[in-house]
Amino acid sequence: MSGIQPQPGIMDIDLYVGGTSTVEGVKDVTKLSSNENPLGCSDVVKDAHAKTGLNLHRYPSTEHEELRAAIGEVHGLDPARIICGVGSDEVLQFITHAYAGVGDEIVYPQHGFSMYPILANMVGATPVVAVERERVVDVDAILAACTEKTKIVFVANPANPTGTMIGGNDMARLADGLPEGCILVHDGAYTEYVQGFDGGAGLVEARSNVVMTRTFSKIYGLGGLRVGWGYASQEIIDVLNRVRQPFNLSPIQTALAEAAVRDQEWVTKCRAENARLRSWLAEALMEIGVPSDTSCTNFILARFADQAEAEACDDYLKSQGLIVRRVTGYGLPNCLRITVGDEPSCRRVAHAIGQFKGGAR
Ligand SMILES: *Cc1c(COP(=O)(O)O)cnc(C)c1O
Repeated sequence: MSGIQPQPGIMDIDLYVGGTSTVEGVKDVTKLSSNENPLGCSDVVKDAHAKTGLNLHRYPSTEHEELRAAIGEVHGLDPARIICGVGSDEVLQFITHAYAGVGDEIVYPQHGFSMYPILANMVGATPVVAVERERVVDVDAILAACTEKTKIVFVANPANPTGTMIGGNDMARLADGLPEGCILVHDGAYTEYVQGFDGGAGLVEARSNVVMTRTFSKIYGLGGLRVGWGYASQEIIDVLNRVRQPFNLSPIQTALAEAAVRDQEWVTKCRAENARLRSWLAEALMEIGVPSDTSCTNFILARFADQAEAEACDDYLKSQGLIVRRVTGYGLPNCLRITVGDEPSCRRVAHAIGQFKGGAR
């Protein structure tokens, strides 16, 4: 060959595996594998979409000022310290790109989001895993895993795929205990599912080493739109803006995200509906011998006896047109992650798991 070689770490990346949405030979499929909002997005966003008579021959603004102003207004944050990205995944990438490289370490919890090792390898940094305690983030284990080479710690709170959450005091203790020059990324993809939770915004205000990330993909029902944002000190935001492509978001993305964030009524409604169906589903599964931890998100991590039972149940669900998520890659081979769907979907998946437990294969 020509001696063309990718940068260190690139070939160590295991490609991200998304939730599937089809089953061969099954027509009526219910997708509960990607933590999408079963109610979709709000009518306000649909109207905004229909009305976008946008000038698509013009380049968009590079600053996203209107979207940042709206986010700042709604959440009581300083718009100058907000950065917007193509999903919060892109914001996580800005942080990794700007602050870690070859020879550095990036620490994340044992069952942490699968983008974290991908991002570490993308910049040639070493991914380091800190054990969890019973599927809950263990702050002491993270602190013990940190060295002077650690540049970034990623923690999703609430976490995916466990659905569990740690308290604000623990997060603050983590931020305070990190080595000099290390950033704590508080990944808040599921913040809105926890009533009254600020997603780590208070931590960002009080400490210069914390970055909060948020997304429109989950409770806002806009996974396809691809918009997320981050909040941090002015110093960090100024750095992140240097690695951001100037035209990373189209005017359609920013306009619809702005309409979405201004409609908090929709968020409130979806949070309540999710909480109601989540309790129902968790209890229904518990009754048929499938326990789960208390979830703070829009999914349930259902635990089975072992990997064989989890896989057999997944196969049975597929045969019934129900797609849930295997999480063996997250070190949870005996579990299946089930998104809280609408009421018929919840009933359908609980019924099918009941049939499976009762001997149907
Ligand atoms: C879904 C998710 C994200 C981000 O998704 P985007 O669509 O890129 O905003 C980030 N972190 C966690 C833990 C998630 O589950």
